[in-house]
Amino acid sequence: MNDLYTENQYLRRNLRELVSKAKENQRILEYFQHFELELLSCRSLHSLFIKLLFGAQSHFELASCRLLLLDPEGATKKLLEYEQLQEFEGVLEFISHPELFKKLYGNEVSPQLKPLQEMEKARWFPWVPVVESCAMLPLLRDDQIIGSLHFGSVSRDRFTPDKAVDFMSRLASIIAVCLENCINQEHIRRLSLIDMLTRVKNRRSFDEDLSKELSRASRTLKPLSCLFIDADHFKQVNDNYGHQAGDVALKSIAQLISKQLRQTDHLARYGGEEFAALLPDCGRETAVSIAERVRQMAEIKQICYDSSAPFKVTLSIGVSTWYPQTTVVESDAWAGERLVASADNAVYDAKRGGRNRVCYKAYENQSCVVESGY
Ligand code: GH3
Ligand code: MG
Ligand code: MG
Repeated sequence: MNDLYTENQYLRRNLRELVSKAKENQRILEYFQHFELELLSCRSLHSLFIKLLFGAQSHFELASCRLLLLDPEGATKKLLEYEQLQEFEGVLEFISHPELFKKLYGNEVSPQLKPLQEMEKARWFPWVPVVESCAMLPLLRDDQIIGSLHFGSVSRDRFTPDKAVDFMSRLASIIAVCLENCINQEHIRRLSLIDMLTRVKNRRSFDEDLSKELSRASRTLKPLSCLFIDADHFKQVNDNYGHQAGDVALKSIAQLISKQLRQTDHLARYGGEEFAALLPDCGRETAVSIAERVRQMAEIKQICYDSSAPFKVTLSIGVSTWYPQTTVVESDAWAGERLVASADNAVYDAKRGGRNRVCYKAYENQSCVVESGY
């Protein structure tokens, strides 16, 4: 009787422990699931990085969260804009060779939880010296490591090798899928915004950039300049050297303009033999001198196609600058239309003036000023 009672007590205690463990697992599962659903709802690569790098830090109460992403050709890095790259500086690292991941995980490609040695702290969490232990999650697609996510904790006991890694493994799989999806989607979106011949942006992309830059300019009250660039007598290029040679010339012009612009500027093929550039935080004087540099570079550039003699293509460039003012209320769309129209008008003036020159037309529609050329 006594034995039965003791066994009953023992079984009850075991059952209580099991129930409590199941409840704890359920809680952890929901905790992970909540974050996973947020990752799955990210619609852009930028928002995914925000959620992953900053969202994970607060959700999992981490001292740091860093992502090493395999990017052998630098193609993924290019998907982020200059300011976005700055936003993720220190937490997002692009890795050019998968060798590093082999060193990290060896043959055992699964999450690793461990306290950190001083050397490891400096390598994996260089700006967060308080990190004492970390979880390293390999991100796998088709059995290949595409990245490694590192969760750092101030507690030495938080991530230790004896802890189970099932939830972490599941999270890593979901992250890998989300990353791959967002990267692919972003590539497709970019393709739809690129001019296939010259590889600079297309007109659609220019319109998007214009709208973004106008609202930025009106927020910061910094000037926004627009360059309108038209190749001179381009019909004759086609007639004299053939359409293929004309295509080579357009590629060469696009490259030549790109080289004179800053990383934060936008260059688009506006149509046919016309290009447009947007120069944020750039006043009239600088815009005109950039346009003049472009004109001069084109003037001396020898374009070679096939066995025909090298030839040159000059450019007529119109410049206009919008100076946002606090006192004048106008819609961004209206300002954009007038800015582009002013730069376009300045091109006509350059053509009328004899081509191969830069003209500035004030945004306010004042009379044209010849800035350079013959
Ligand atoms: P202007 O100095 O007045 O600008 O003269 P233009 O000959 O450049 O101007 P026009 O508008 O008469 O002709 C533009 C030419 O650009 C005609 C067109 O065949 C050529 N063009 C437009 N798109 C392309 C292209 O993608 N490839 C090639 N090869 N030529 C193109
Ligand atoms: Mg034209
Ligand atoms: Mg032309």
